[in-house]
Formats: sequence, structure tokens, C-alpha cells
Amino acid sequence: MKTEEVIERFRRTGALLEGHFILSSGLHSTNYLQCALLLQHPAEAERIGSALAERFRDERIETVAAPAIGGLIIGYEVARSLGARFIWTEREAGRMTLRRGFRVRAGESVLVVEDVVTTGGSTRETIDALKEAGARVVGAASIIDRSGGQADVGVPRVALATLHVPSVAPSACDACARGEEAVKPGSRKSSNQ
Ligand SMILES: [Zn+2]
Repeated sequence: MKTEEVIERFRRTGALLEGHFILSSGLHSTNYLQCALLLQHPAEAERIGSALAERFRDERIETVAAPAIGGLIIGYEVARSLGARFIWTEREAGRMTLRRGFRVRAGESVLVVEDVVTTGGSTRETIDALKEAGARVVGAASIIDRSGGQADVGVPRVALATLHVPSVAPSACDACARGEEAVKPGSRKSSNQ
């Protein structure tokens, strides 16, 4: 699946948001890809999941792991497509951890899946938690790479769409200059849309 088709799927499902957004970097942007709005459609999640899984078909992935919450749906669909097990990590006292009785075998081959990679921080933390538990992390994948391919997570990494998101400092932002309020897309409530 090519970047254009991925973006078209976001557009078609209303998941390509246009407005005035504060990215997690603190920079401002006029558009945002909200994966949750794409993945609310199981047929889209399944199609995107299988497109990501294609890239790892020959890697004998035993388990897919994802950081909650963002990675849960897409990770599950990638696991389904690969015929693998699916587990997730979540934060406990600020630290990414395997909870709920999830275990990995020593040397178990694991693929880490996220919805969006920006700096790669939560993917890296998930990889660390899995390695600590004994797993062999063979790769990482995301639907969107907002780092322009720059994020280094220490294992081979793929994304369905690699973007150079145009973003500016608030001091250089046209929308800010017009006095328009910026919102954090991740925290946006439906009543505000
Ligand atoms: Zn702004």
C-alpha cells in the first residue's frame, strides 16, 4: 500500500483533520492524521493491518506487541494477519510495562506495532520492556511515520506512510497570528469537532 492510498483512506474516513493543531513536539500544524478515526472502521483496520503485516510475512513473527492505547487496534490486526499472538505494554508509574499476566519466552520473535511514530519514544520503551523480558525484537512498524524517516528505534522499522509534516513554532504560526486557538488533536473531544 502506497502513501497516497494510505492518506486517501484517512481522507475518506474523515481522519485527515484540518485546523490549528499543537503537535506533541509543541510545534503547530494545520493538519493532523487521527488514526482512531480511521481505525474505528474494522474493515479499514483489517486492510491497513494486513498491509503492514505483508512487510513481515517472512520474519516468522511469533508475537506482535503494541504500546497502549494507540497501538492496540492496529497491532491486533497485524497479529491477526500474521497468525501471531498479540500482547500490549502500558505505563505503570510512568514506565512501559507488560502487565495482565502477559509473558514472552526467551528468544521469542516479536514485532512492535504502533499507530504513529513521531520521535519513536513509546516504540523504543516497548522494545526495552520486551527485551528485558527476554524477547527478541525483530522489527517495528507503524501506519504513519511523522519523523520523515528519522526516528531510530534500534531495530529495522517500516511505516505505510512516511510524512514530513509541515509544522512551525508558535511564534511563526499564521493561525496564532490571527488569534485562533490551537488544540491538541489527541485530546480533542467530539463535542468540539
Ligand atoms: Zn499556531
